[in-house]
Amino acid sequence: MRGKKKITENDVLEITKEIRVALLEADVALPVVKKFIRNIRTRAIGVEVSEALQPAQQVIKIVDEELTAILGGGESELDKSPKIPTIIMMAGLQGAGKTTFAGKLAKRLKETENARPLMIAADVYRPAAIEQLKTVGSQVDVPVFEEGTTVAPVEIVRHGLALAAEKRNDYVLIDTAGRLEIDEKLMDELVQIKALAQPTEILLVVDAMTGQVAADVAKKFNETLDVTGVIITKLDGDTRGGAALSIREITGKPIKFVGTGEKLTDLEVFYPDRMSSRILG
Ligand code: GDP
Repeated sequence: MRGKKKITENDVLEITKEIRVALLEADVALPVVKKFIRNIRTRAIGVEVSEALQPAQQVIKIVDEELTAILGGGESELDKSPKIPTIIMMAGLQGAGKTTFAGKLAKRLKETENARPLMIAADVYRPAAIEQLKTVGSQVDVPVFEEGTTVAPVEIVRHGLALAAEKRNDYVLIDTAGRLEIDEKLMDELVQIKALAQPTEILLVVDAMTGQVAADVAKKFNETLDVTGVIITKLDGDTRGGAALSIREITGKPIKFVGTGEKLTDLEVFYPDRMSSRILG
């Protein structure tokens, strides 16, 4: 007969050292790692070890539960407006995967809800961006509203919304401009588009491969736009996806979908428990 064991301070110290390394290797931002480890230490010491587990396994179980909880616990649905159209605005740095995600989401809405979305091309700084959205639109058979590169983005959005009202589209997806780095002019423009469109969802699209940088980007975008959700792209790459944890911890906003490839079918709902296992490696 074994008596009940408790997790000792030593057990916790040893395991959390390893967990710390795993999180840093997964690209979780350092302040987030520190806070997380502190919480685990407080939570785990003195916990009874269940019969079937070693103390180390018990700590890892706690870590997994805690990570899953921070990542949101369960899935987070797309919010919908009570009256049509539901307006969804994408934001993020250039190359994060906004345009691709807009196409993936339009496809998903068509397939799961028989929806009739309209996409608006509000990135006027790169002519290629408009062409790309039109290509994506034709691939998923969704109309794209564009007015070239000479009209102000906020006006394009105004005109696009008027068209959606006339055509009774049930969703409007607004693809906005990204820059290689955050700049005030871009942020002002996004704030103006937000004020005009009053979107139900402002989805921040972040490239998982950018690791630590992703956390700073998310912080800044969220402070300015008060986003409603996050999309993590490029999880098909070799990153363990620690950016997801940093972003969730820093913004407190739910991660709704993940991109797992370049094809328009490569979109998955975000599952916190799976992400936790992936981050822990
Ligand atoms: P945007 O500038 O934010 O609109 O980014 P794009 O949608 O143009 O995407 C930039 C690049 O990333 C393109 O080459 C996309 O094919 C690629 N991309 C987007 N999402 C994913 C993804 O989930 N996985 C991979 N591997 N590539 C992606």
